[in-house]
Amino acid sequence: MSYVDEVLAKVKEKNANEPEFLQAVEEVLNSLRPVIAVNEEKYKKLALLERLCEPERQIKFRVPWIDDNGQVQVNTGYRVQFNSAIGPYKGGIRLHPSVYIGIIKFLGFEQIFKNSLTGLAIGGGKGGSDFDPKGKSDNEIMNFCQSFMTELCRHIGANTDVPAGDIGTGGREIGYMYGQYKRIRNLYEGVLTGKGLSFGGSLARTEATGYGLLYLTNEMLKSNGIDIAGKTICVSGAGNVAIYAIQKAQQMGAKVVTCSDSTGWIYDEEGIDVALLKEIKEVKRARLDAYAAARPSAVYHDKKAEGSNVWDVPCAVALPCATQNELGIDDAKKLVGNGVLAVAEGANMPTTLEATEYFQEKGVLFAPGKAANAGGVACSALEMSQNSERMIWSFEKVDKSLESIMINIFHNIDAAAEKYGFKGNYVVGANIAGFEKVADAMLAQGVV
Ligand code: GLU
Repeated sequence: MSYVDEVLAKVKEKNANEPEFLQAVEEVLNSLRPVIAVNEEKYKKLALLERLCEPERQIKFRVPWIDDNGQVQVNTGYRVQFNSAIGPYKGGIRLHPSVYIGIIKFLGFEQIFKNSLTGLAIGGGKGGSDFDPKGKSDNEIMNFCQSFMTELCRHIGANTDVPAGDIGTGGREIGYMYGQYKRIRNLYEGVLTGKGLSFGGSLARTEATGYGLLYLTNEMLKSNGIDIAGKTICVSGAGNVAIYAIQKAQQMGAKVVTCSDSTGWIYDEEGIDVALLKEIKEVKRARLDAYAAARPSAVYHDKKAEGSNVWDVPCAVALPCATQNELGIDDAKKLVGNGVLAVAEGANMPTTLEATEYFQEKGVLFAPGKAANAGGVACSALEMSQNSERMIWSFEKVDKSLESIMINIFHNIDAAAEKYGFKGNYVVGANIAGFEKVADAMLAQGVV
């Protein structure tokens, strides 16, 4: 049995109830086979892969808070500090009822390689809670965030672990968490990213994941002789990633005709109106049927009632920007049947392994999330730099840095894939390129 197979078997046995984590590990370790083969005995002796798959630290805690009726509610909080070989732990906080340790571990594991690909000094971590922000009042959100940070604040710090946003955690939540951290620790430091502009946030951080996704997608298309201008694009999701992906795609001359939320999706034959979408999602915090009600060219589809989704719509480029495993094999078949040329993941692991392999078999260009959505965390690292030097960079400076980081990521993953004989396989390329730097640092730092 090869070393990779041995480790895979051990990881499966040890984490049997965490399918998302196993899915992420399986994809990465399978891609690393050609790199591991070169130094198999050495890596095995040093248990490099076992260490890579075991978080350095996992914190699980009670989050009690009081709702607007005076009722005490209790949620579970998590922070997984996965790998600090190349920098302080860095990764978002997910607030969603689906959160359990397996989700946080999968996200933290992905973050190790994603953060490495940015070329910046950030390790991998992730946190969250099973708290559901939907339908909560501002006061309830603040109560929850303060309680969450009351425990988390003893485990994080500007040079230790720097959380940020993710699903359910946006600017409002980061503000409340930052206020509580400062109050308890009496430190004004860059302990969180995605902060408001008046207290250490970076210009372009809000846009960064979506913009970065398009910078990388555009580079991938260009390198394969395809012009993004005039192409029809389907986007899923209607959160921060989706909104700014749609905006940048339109600026590049493409036409984005779909977006979705947890209950339904929109087809807008004239192209999504980003200003209206922002108003509905960011200001009113309403559902997408409100978009269709306000826009004659748009049709709203109820997901459950119709059993349909955005991948039914023919497009040249598909950008899944909602959540993990939202695009399965049936969706992949529909997209390929409709002639899709490229898929790039704005969310973390939105495509199942089976669907990913199907796209690759059919010659569809496929950019995995750890490369394609790295723009958010890359910009977070730029926010950390600005906080450290107590300076504020212009929007243009941050955006230009972001663009060059994303273009570099594409060329690095492309080169890594080619070097190991997998030309055009950007999944293999991203995993190998992300791994190499982390492995080098881990080996240099000894058995820790
Ligand atoms: N949650 C984002 C991600 O999945 C951003 C993390 C960060 O900025 O630290 O990469």
